[in-house]
Amino acid sequence: MRIAIDGPAGSGKSTVAHALAECCGLVLLDTGAMYRAVTLECLEKEIDPEDVDSVSRIAKEMVLTFGVDEAGKQTVVANGRDVTTLIRTPEVDANVSAVSAIPAVREAMVALQRRMGQEGDVVAEGRDIGTVVFPDAEVKVFLTADPKARAHRRAVQRAGDDAAVNPQAQANEEDERKILEDLKRRDELDSTREVAPLKPADDAHHIDSSSLSVDEVVSQIVTLMDEARKNEPESKDAAKPEPEPKEDGKATAKKKVAKKTERKANEDADIEKFDRKSFDSFYDHAVREFPLPARALLGAAIGVCGALSKTFWHWTLQDGKKLWKAEGGRMVVMNHVSMLDPVLLVVSDWAHGRRMRPIYKSEFDKNKFVTWFFSRIGAIPVKRGTADIKAVRRAQRAMQRGEDVLVFPEGTRIYSDDQEVTIHGGFALMAQLAKAPVVPVAIVGARDGAPGGNKPLRPGRVWMRVGDEITFDELGVKGRKQQAAAMEKVAMERVYAMRDELRAEHPGKM
Ligand code: C5P
Repeated sequence: MRIAIDGPAGSGKSTVAHALAECCGLVLLDTGAMYRAVTLECLEKEIDPEDVDSVSRIAKEMVLTFGVDEAGKQTVVANGRDVTTLIRTPEVDANVSAVSAIPAVREAMVALQRRMGQEGDVVAEGRDIGTVVFPDAEVKVFLTADPKARAHRRAVQRAGDDAAVNPQAQANEEDERKILEDLKRRDELDSTREVAPLKPADDAHHIDSSSLSVDEVVSQIVTLMDEARKNEPESKDAAKPEPEPKEDGKATAKKKVAKKTERKANEDADIEKFDRKSFDSFYDHAVREFPLPARALLGAAIGVCGALSKTFWHWTLQDGKKLWKAEGGRMVVMNHVSMLDPVLLVVSDWAHGRRMRPIYKSEFDKNKFVTWFFSRIGAIPVKRGTADIKAVRRAQRAMQRGEDVLVFPEGTRIYSDDQEVTIHGGFALMAQLAKAPVVPVAIVGARDGAPGGNKPLRPGRVWMRVGDEITFDELGVKGRKQQAAAMEKVAMERVYAMRDELRAEHPGKM
């Protein structure tokens, strides 16, 4: 599904689109950021925004992507550089309309936007989404607001606050006045330019956000999405639940957003029918929905691995109940010393009726058989060192469905204590998005049993210990970014503390 949100500057498109993307698991396309990135590049290279040829060349040659930072916020990456904050300056504001009015710039950006729009369900915001970029979008919204309200929001944003979150927030009057002037000037330029001027699509729904909260606007759009779904062909609708009874009022709208979020998470897998030839299907669906042969194979593999590993390594999982007696899905993090680590944890989770999705580095996918095998055991690949939003969302949805997700934040096996370790904090982001607690687990002895490289397996003993789950609330830190950083630190400290306890209890074991 494609949701197009157009409107003038400061009407709240961006906040609403972010909220919608988060609540409904949509890909977010901030097209204004793309024109801003081109403008920034021109300003930095001292190219006059009126110099059509030079600006067009910059736009055509620019490599633009969106990423996600550790706190889950979208980043804008232009020619390999994170320009997320650099594109939000008054200087860029003052020049972006001239740049975006150049036909060749628009041509380059629209082509890119359409390509990005193919990545799945998308919410795109800008000026020409419903009219030019996605004229056949299923939901089109034209968001407006009183100019004074828009200027106030922008001024508060510049002052480091958020009027949507803090309605009492104040900004400097002079700043607000200047911003109002700039908004009016930009609106005028954007609406009167020849190519793709700012205007509502004929079939757009108009929403005036002047006196509405973000939740209220989001709720209205979610309702429009529901209606659009009802109009989709039968086959697509088959997996959808009965429509909810009609109610009125703000409370209902809020409830709808919450329900929608939950439903989206639970039913994402149903949107695409299971295609057993596609690895993606295995990554996107719950293990319990795998085709019967795959589940039978997995059951058999678990049985064999469980029996063999118990015989060879007499492993124990202390305090396993903390893992198995859980209500919903959790993020499990563990130190990584051998290839046995994921096997033992998946086997024990499975034996206790839970399903665990190990996250593995996509470098393993060079070997087709490994990809096939990993997909069948429910593992999900992640591209390390990049903002792999697909993997993040898959993990998020798995936890929201009630599956556990297993991450080795060290990113690779640690063969010796001298090896340099870099902790990858993506697990905290995944847990944060899924609103799931993090469970630390430590393992000792497996490095001796399965030393890796060309060294043979050796019988021995393996001990694992499960720590108390850690919730984001108990960290006592405010702000998404800060919470994710705190979770990364606290969870790994607990893993290492338990590992050291186990080592002390079993001297000489690694
Ligand atoms: O939405 P935002 O304020 O970031 O957009 C910055 C500028 O980019 C707009 O003022 C407009 O000139 C341009 N723009 C556009 N078409 C879009 C999105 C933004 O022309 N789809």
